Amino acid sequence: MFSITLEILEGDRSRSVTLSLESTKSPQVIRIGRSAADCDVVLTDKKVSRLHGEIFFKKEEYTFYLRNLTSHRPNSQPNPVWVNSQTIIDREVALRAQTQIQLGQVLLKVLTIDIPQNGIKCVNGHTVPYTYKGYFCPHCGSFLESGSTVAVSSSQFLHLQGESNAARN
Ligand SMILES: [Zn+2]
Repeated sequence: MFSITLEILEGDRSRSVTLSLESTKSPQVIRIGRSAADCDVVLTDKKVSRLHGEIFFKKEEYTFYLRNLTSHRPNSQPNPVWVNSQTIIDREVALRAQTQIQLGQVLLKVLTIDIPQNGIKCVNGHTVPYTYKGYFCPHCGSFLESGSTVAVSSSQFLHLQGESNAARN
């Protein structure tokens, strides 16, 4: 699963949440802010914006990133996000285990990041999960002896994961 576990320190309360990209309010992004309707991580600190930050998956780098959603608001100033004490307004920053994110007075610590292994490509260009190595491509039947490892998108992977389980049964 493409998921990330955060420890949230708000005031003197602490909680941890595991967020999966497949079950968020907006497709493929994990939103952080005060809006309970729009955010997956809902914070109550008044200094936090309604839609403040967003965690997304950068496929080219196979890494979770964070961006500030307040950097281009038409009628108000950007509200900073701090990542490991660096101010993030206009750029995106990669997240790793132990990364510390601060919005308003709330601290979010990345506990774990779960990203599936890369896939494998058959001679005809089909991308299938790496667990197919040494088996046959479910699309064309070509043997997946070694093949080149490629990054697969979340939707591709989920789709194929079902087939992979079926193939092994
Ligand atoms: Zn194939």
